[in-house]
Amino acid sequence: MSTLLIRGQVLVLVASIYSLAVRAETAHEQSSSSKHSVEGKDDPTIASLENQRFTKFFFVALLSVVAAIACYQIALQGVRYLRTLVCMGTTSQRYFTRPHKLFASMKQHIFYAPLFSVRHNQEFRLSSAINFGTLPTRFQALFLLGYLGMNASFCAVSIDWSKDRQTVLETLRNRSGVLSIINMLPLVLMAGRNNPLIWILGISFDTYNLLHRWFGRIVVLEALVHTLAWTISTVEKSGWPTVGTALKHSNMILTGLIGTAALVVIFLQSPSAVRHAFYEVFLHLHIALAIVVIIAVWAHLHRCPRERQVLVGVIAAWGFERTMRLVSLVYRNFGQSKTTAMVETLPGDALRITVKLARPFSIVTGHYVYLYMPTVAWWTSHPFSVAWSEEQLDEEDSIQKDEPILQRNSLEPRSSYISLIVRRRTGFTDKLFQRAEAGVHGRIHVNALIEGPYGRQQDLHSYGTVMLFAGGVGITHQVPYVRNLVEGFGNGTVATRKIILVWIIQSPEHLEWIRPWMTTILGMPRRREVLRILLFITRPRSTKEIQSPSATVQMFPGRPNIDTLLRIEVENQIGAMAVTVCGTGTLSDDVRQAVRSRQLKSNIDFIEESFSW
Ligand SMILES: Cc1cc2nc3c(=O)[nH]c(=O)nc-3n(C[C@H](O)[C@H](O)[C@H](O)COP(=O)(O)OP(=O)(O)OC[C@H]3O[C@@H](n4cnc5c(N)ncnc54)[C@H](O)[C@@H]3O)c2cc1C
Repeated sequence: MSTLLIRGQVLVLVASIYSLAVRAETAHEQSSSSKHSVEGKDDPTIASLENQRFTKFFFVALLSVVAAIACYQIALQGVRYLRTLVCMGTTSQRYFTRPHKLFASMKQHIFYAPLFSVRHNQEFRLSSAINFGTLPTRFQALFLLGYLGMNASFCAVSIDWSKDRQTVLETLRNRSGVLSIINMLPLVLMAGRNNPLIWILGISFDTYNLLHRWFGRIVVLEALVHTLAWTISTVEKSGWPTVGTALKHSNMILTGLIGTAALVVIFLQSPSAVRHAFYEVFLHLHIALAIVVIIAVWAHLHRCPRERQVLVGVIAAWGFERTMRLVSLVYRNFGQSKTTAMVETLPGDALRITVKLARPFSIVTGHYVYLYMPTVAWWTSHPFSVAWSEEQLDEEDSIQKDEPILQRNSLEPRSSYISLIVRRRTGFTDKLFQRAEAGVHGRIHVNALIEGPYGRQQDLHSYGTVMLFAGGVGITHQVPYVRNLVEGFGNGTVATRKIILVWIIQSPEHLEWIRPWMTTILGMPRRREVLRILLFITRPRSTKEIQSPSATVQMFPGRPNIDTLLRIEVENQIGAMAVTVCGTGTLSDDVRQAVRSRQLKSNIDFIEESFSW
């Protein structure tokens, strides 16, 4: 309910900012035009007034989209809240199993739909190292198309193409330059870990990351049009030597060219294959080039105070984001004690990292943190989902005792711990694995820093049936939800009556990753009434390994047939159903497809979490 109120307040805030902006803009226009007529001056020109109008339209359009999505989210939260209240005390939730035909159809064909038939999260790969990224969903593609269309039409509209070439080029140069600048504001906002739109709109960081990439491409394109329009018009008017002279003698022209060149280099160094293969190199170069762009464009705009104001907004947004990260780092890690971590190797090239927090903080489902280990990877940070969190109640410091945190006597509260499961890749995670492997019993203690927590919490309490799919290390995202829902069922605070966890792993050894936490969950009051676990072992060494421990925890060889699993659960569905997935792209796409194909038969929501962007 509090989330609902906060979202409502933010919406009011957005509306107020919008009305203030419009009023200020109108007042400015009125005063400019009266000045214009009284003093008989040419400035502001018609072109600059047009630019102001387009800038206003641009931000109004964006704010309208934000407001519309926020309203939708508020309505959705309201529905979920009411559904939880209505269903909390009952197993008969039949009303909520029925789909709303129109909404279900929209979910099937727009909200959950991949761009084409099935593929969304499965990456296009040439090899394990060369990754060409993923396709957007249909909804994302529609939004991007609209955004691109808005930019293209702002560039073309109100340019009188019948006029002489020089005038057309001048207007085009002007308009594309302004658009390139104003697009930088959403571009920078989308890139931030502390982007407030993540929790206002309930949209995940990886979606904003996708938008960041596309907005970036638009900025580069518009900067190129701007530069080319100037170059062509100058060459046509006075020849190439004038271009050379302008570059030598005009700071404005030189800095403009530097800005555009830096943007083009950013574009060239950021394809998916480069990003994924050399993430740290990409990131550092990307930030350095972005700083060059900002400095160059700032100098370039020395005669354009209005556009400089937008750039101030860009710098402020970036500065705010970086400051928030720093504040989070300092606050989370420098208290009476310091943040330390115990890293232990696990079977199947994985690590369990138990972080002792300098300051306890509350962790909710869906949270992830950025982990820094300066002795392993300097200042770089990596995101990992919080698989488990505990209030430490031990007499002795558990990390010093090298024991899992759940196995000791509890005497008095000390500090909080969070645990992460990390799959070994080829960079930081590989280095850390090697260090831990060389430690006594495959274990080391290191100083660490935590930034965050980040991530949006999916409220699953209102669903009668919750089905969670995890592939490999994707289980780290699902364990907290299982714990939270089983706990809620035991306390009678959730509508959930059925929880089905489907975990696909290569070997039974991987069960060790979450063994201590699963033991806790399996021991929770009334767990047997609500939770079933289906384990699929894709590469068992022998059939003897496949043994189901109980009727509610079953093990199967091979890959699951997602469609069949979902069909069985839908046939026995209680209330509304949530299907969530965190794992490989193929698994996500299969689950998405199975959910979409049942939209018109049953009330099912689909939630996807991905570990890459
Ligand atoms: C929200 C989120 C939660 C995650 N949770 C987990 C988890 O619980 N357990 C787990 O094992 N993995 C998780 N990951 C993935 C994990 O962050 C990467 O596997 C890890 O950063 C790879 O580090 P590396 O240097 O060894 O990677 P490399 O071997 O260099 O690269 C492997 C892949 O990881 C990506 N990557 C590398 N560094 C980063 C970074 N700093 N930020 C984002 N992506 C990066 C690369 O683009 C590449 O695709 C999560 C990722 C995200 C985005």
